[in-house]
Amino acid sequence: MFDLVIKGGEVIDPSQNIHEKMDVGIAQGKIASLRKNIRSEEAREVREVAGKIVVPSLVDLHTHVYWGDTSLGVDADELGMRSGVTTFVDAGSTGAGNFLGFQKHVIELSTVRILAFLNISYPGIFCFSQNFRFGELINLELASVEEAVKIGQTYPQSIVGIKIRASMDASGTHGVTSIHLARQAAEELGKPVMVHIGSPPPTVEEILPLLRKGDILTHSFRGMPNYVLQSNGQIIPELREARRRGVIIDIGHGVGSFSFKVAKRMIEQGFLPDTISSDIHALGINGPTFDLPTTLSKMLNLGMSLDEVIRASTQNPAKVIGLEGKIGTLQEGSIADIGVFEIKRGTFMFNDCFGEEMEGNIKINPILTIIGGQVWT
Ligand SMILES: [Zn+2]
Repeated sequence: MFDLVIKGGEVIDPSQNIHEKMDVGIAQGKIASLRKNIRSEEAREVREVAGKIVVPSLVDLHTHVYWGDTSLGVDADELGMRSGVTTFVDAGSTGAGNFLGFQKHVIELSTVRILAFLNISYPGIFCFSQNFRFGELINLELASVEEAVKIGQTYPQSIVGIKIRASMDASGTHGVTSIHLARQAAEELGKPVMVHIGSPPPTVEEILPLLRKGDILTHSFRGMPNYVLQSNGQIIPELREARRRGVIIDIGHGVGSFSFKVAKRMIEQGFLPDTISSDIHALGINGPTFDLPTTLSKMLNLGMSLDEVIRASTQNPAKVIGLEGKIGTLQEGSIADIGVFEIKRGTFMFNDCFGEEMEGNIKINPILTIIGGQVWT
């Protein structure tokens, strides 16, 4: 007997290379069965979702969800319920100095699962709003390897790596130095570094050789200046070498870090992102970011396939945070976090962060979210 059956939908689960009409049976918060034609009599509750797609709930690898205590934070539960995201990875909103509040007041109280890259800056991203900004590593004395390691060791379940914003606005001229500090902390924790690129210094050509297997480059498809294309439109060799080493190439859309022109050139050259994340925060939630499904819709219209887009927002980010096989999959025994979406056809307008508007004909819209086996209402 199943507690819930999701019936009649088109299941897309890249972790098992499945893309076909199937039913999902859920029992005790876990995926109990994935097969054709589960009979309604076998279920306490049935949700008919014919014509819709059924995927693992989305995993957003770059978000800012320390609502209220950091000016850039958004409310993860509110956003998750309406966007089909049940795992949020916070990308450095907090450092060692304020992580405890994030853990006790947000992570432990949220319905969604929240994990964090801890900022190497002790106060984290403490000053980031529309009218008021001050970089967290403008003064390098704000970085503390020792404190970051201590907090990372105390909360190993929540902290999945170390974040560093290596750009002029966040780290002044200390970008490369601060990557080395982030590396030291990450190495002691045995976890990866997530590096943000932005206005230089440092340049992306300086940053990429410092990244190792499992590290993450976020804002990878940003526009000029300091982007991953050469003047002739070809991908810089440093990025290809980084991919060969196993560096994770992440989107991190945000409000200033995604360019349609760059994304188009990348996809044309067959260079797809490993992970598609929103970099959702208070300044982008009313556009141009909106939510993760909007970023996925943009990638679809730019030429990625539906299966590729789902893989980059389920299985791949789950692997980056060490939860492969538990979330981001519909395999039997995994946590029953499931997203039901509709694929809408029509005319839709999208905006990037570099003043470009794009007309698209496909949009992925959340319909229903199941979290831990429960329909989330
Ligand atoms: Zn961010």
